[in-house]
Amino acid sequence: MDRNSPPLAAQERNGVSSGSPFSESPDFLKKEPVERRKTTVYRRSEGRWYHVGRRRAGDGRARSDVKQDIYQLTRPELGERLAAWGAGSDSLRVLWRSLYRDLGDWNSPGLDLPLALRRQLDETFSPPTPPKVARHQRSSDQLTRKFLLELNDGVRIETVLMHFRDRATACLSTQAGCALDCVFCATGQAGFNRQLSTAEIVAQALFVERQLRESLPSRDRQSRAELRNLVLMGMGEPLLNYDAVMRALAILGESSGMAIGAKQATISTVGVIPGIVRLADEARPYSLAVSLHAATQSERLAMIPTAKAWPLDELLDACRYYTTIIGRKIFFEWTLVEGANDSIEQARQLADLLRDIPAQVNLIPLNPTDGYAGEATQLEAARRFQTTLRELGIPATVRQRRGIDIAAGCGQLAASDPVSISPPSVGTN
Ligand code: SAH
Repeated sequence: MDRNSPPLAAQERNGVSSGSPFSESPDFLKKEPVERRKTTVYRRSEGRWYHVGRRRAGDGRARSDVKQDIYQLTRPELGERLAAWGAGSDSLRVLWRSLYRDLGDWNSPGLDLPLALRRQLDETFSPPTPPKVARHQRSSDQLTRKFLLELNDGVRIETVLMHFRDRATACLSTQAGCALDCVFCATGQAGFNRQLSTAEIVAQALFVERQLRESLPSRDRQSRAELRNLVLMGMGEPLLNYDAVMRALAILGESSGMAIGAKQATISTVGVIPGIVRLADEARPYSLAVSLHAATQSERLAMIPTAKAWPLDELLDACRYYTTIIGRKIFFEWTLVEGANDSIEQARQLADLLRDIPAQVNLIPLNPTDGYAGEATQLEAARRFQTTLRELGIPATVRQRRGIDIAAGCGQLAASDPVSISPPSVGTN
């Protein structure tokens, strides 16, 4: 993308006055409740977006009088702590394995860790405890399970476990709620609460892994992680919680622990341009999905209010830039709404838009949510849309609808109305 000569109109849209080369993040990001938010802040200078830090420092870093969450630390960071206490790399290896392979902690039985180190760990970190399950639901086909998890401060989020023939995938939340207000999304309809910390994102994956292991015969447990894929498509916008998300993916990707490879982790974004540029500049090797849903700026704006801040033409520029640097295709998501974005003509417009971007389109027939009156495109029409794209050279799939009966599908996570407190049942998969 041409990052040196931004069109003037684009500068104005992004709040750049002629007197100042900088702009702040768009206004909707400053939305309520301000005192609880930690928002990734981007500035734009001479047409280029820069990441300039976080509005509130911390990212879960505890005050000195409060014990820390060990899931907050990457392996090198934990190694530094241990080294400062005089412990060697063997101890790091043992501890990391206990945390991320055996789902234990530093006091798990049989660990070869010096007593003095255990004491130090006891003093510094709170014992990792699994999140509280406020509700657990299974889809009628038993293949999807949705968990309403309660965090330490009582905030609730949803995490989904999906079983496929040869693998299990966890759909993780990256924020409690969402500030983006996409018209058809239940999370947006419920509003934004707060950012999740690295530890809270990591803990969701470990929680899902624990569920998977509990359904295995005990002799098969702990050999390797059962969870093979992560999709950051739960509640929230991952690229507006960039640092916490990247740290969590680094922790879960460590080969000596959960070992979920970069390509097995998909970041789904509404189209946060500075975040996409940053992923490219930092050469982040994760899979990237961009929620497109419309092939013209006006149609997209009607579905996604943030398209105002990050318009379609600039978003596609950012995608081109990303694919050039990273060398991998982007998955474009397209929620099919009957009569709104499912015509053959719109499929052609989409193909035209993507003709010079390595891409695959994932078509998702709309999942019902209370706050949106639109209907899902029927399967036959979805297939026609898919075929049109394919004939024009764009790979496309119609995504299997999963867990709709328990509102665990894309855009249905709202973390509302818990019906009962029940521990997850074990072992019917
Ligand atoms: N904020 C991120 C990830 C969360 S939603 C993003 O926007 O990509 C994951 C995907 O589900 C997005 O493509 C989103 O647009 C889509 N989605 C939201 N509500 C939906 C609904 N009711 N039916 C089908 N897909 C939906």
